[in-house]
Amino acid sequence: MAQAQGKQTVIEWLNRGRARELTAILTYMAQHYELEDTDVGKLADAVKEVAIQEMKHAEDFAERILYLGGEPTSQPDAGIKKGMSIPEMLEADVALERQAVAMYNQAAQACEDAGDHTTAELFIRILAEEEGHVDLFGNIGDHLARHGEAYLATLIGGSADEGASAE
Ligand code: FE
Ligand code: FE
Repeated sequence: MAQAQGKQTVIEWLNRGRARELTAILTYMAQHYELEDTDVGKLADAVKEVAIQEMKHAEDFAERILYLGGEPTSQPDAGIKKGMSIPEMLEADVALERQAVAMYNQAAQACEDAGDHTTAELFIRILAEEEGHVDLFGNIGDHLARHGEAYLATLIGGSADEGASAE
């Protein structure tokens, strides 16, 4: 009985994580399009790359949920903000990633307490990648705050230009 309850708790944490990932995916996809639209192609590519990593996280959580006999959620846990300036965008992204880090730390501990080391390890692995995302967005934001327009100019162009040649 206690074991079934522990499994339910683990599935709930996995679905909380999955909902967080879905929010991140939708956020970064929206930003990717906005950045590409304003020709900040290199930053757009970096954001797109993170969106793809979040998709993998969402799938990793779903696979584990299915393995445990649960049903993966398809609902993000927050709305998507659009039309932000680049510094605002990066600040929001760092906040989103920090929330994920806090949540997955808690989740890893809860899964450990429930005796599910495999799920705890999954959260720990993904947690490390979210810490990488905090650093990535944080560093770009820092460079931008320090060097302003000069740094922004280095983020223009990139592979996103390929599709824009018809304009
Ligand atoms: Fe993620
Ligand atoms: Fe992330």
